[in-house]
Amino acid sequence: MALLTNQLIRWFRKNKRDLPWRENPTPYCVWISEIMLQQTVVNAVIPYFRKWMEKYPDIAHLAKAKEAEVLRMWEGLGYYARARNIFKAAIEIEKKFGGRMPETWEEWRGLPGIGDYTASAIMSIAFGKPYPVLDANVRRVGRRILGMAAWDKKREKELLEFLREAMPRKNPGAFNEALMELGQKVCLPDKPLCEKCPVKRFCIGFEKNIQNLIPGKADRKITKKKTYLALFVSRGKLLIVKREKGILKDLWGFPEFQEEGEIASFIKKEGGRRFKETGKLKARIHYYTRFRDELIPFVYEVEKQFGGNAGSRRWVSFNELEKYPLPSVYRKILEELLLKTCPAKI
Ligand code: SF4
Repeated sequence: MALLTNQLIRWFRKNKRDLPWRENPTPYCVWISEIMLQQTVVNAVIPYFRKWMEKYPDIAHLAKAKEAEVLRMWEGLGYYARARNIFKAAIEIEKKFGGRMPETWEEWRGLPGIGDYTASAIMSIAFGKPYPVLDANVRRVGRRILGMAAWDKKREKELLEFLREAMPRKNPGAFNEALMELGQKVCLPDKPLCEKCPVKRFCIGFEKNIQNLIPGKADRKITKKKTYLALFVSRGKLLIVKREKGILKDLWGFPEFQEEGEIASFIKKEGGRRFKETGKLKARIHYYTRFRDELIPFVYEVEKQFGGNAGSRRWVSFNELEKYPLPSVYRKILEELLLKTCPAKI
């Protein structure tokens, strides 16, 4: 076991990437980077992380921010619940800990948006405590090393036990990061580069030639769906709605429908008697962890700004839209609409 650990850490020291959150791995930096890295690839996170640290260099700056401004900063990273939870956790750290960053696994785990994985990553990387992490990369690498083609709770426990034993007392964070990096650069989901792997002589998956069967097809199943978006335009204003729940909660977007035919009935029901469809914009694919959503946008000119500005609904001018946090895919749809209708406004 010690040999595997040494090989892995030696490989990591030689091959690790220079990443901004590795320059100064304080609990605050590790926390923000780990949350950004959930569901988002490293290269996409780098500019967001730099921008974030300029604007909110520490917990005190973050706790004083406004939630809408934090969401606006997050625009483009997706999975906005992450940003909302960071903001809630910052307020809680200010209130509960008087601005001191939590120092134990349990304190971190009790904050919004912090699961076992993130609490363990922070404790091992920022505090040097021996907590193994189990994200998708580490799970895949670990399962392959142990030759675990099948997967269930019992095997998850066994894998965690293996990681705990393999983890060095000194610098456990480097061990966790090495496994994550190995999963990102060598032990790839589809074609693992076993010939280049520093731990191939310890890998049961490689020895039995079953590495490509892990994880199995059932683990990767993605559900497909279609969503019709209606961009209602009336006298230079566009109707936007605020999401009340789900992973896009508190972000703004366009009214959504499961069937195209529902759009006309919706306008009539809302009292927008005269309307015409004026075009269809490019369909865009939005990926979530487990499903793929094809967004099909239609533009409708409506005579009346039906429904008014009640509750989670607003008719806003194109210039005002800049202030509202929108998922980036919606921002792209909006840009296309502006290019088609009034290019001078972009
Ligand atoms: S030998 Fe291949 S399957 Fe095993 S850990 Fe290395 S890259 Fe992954």
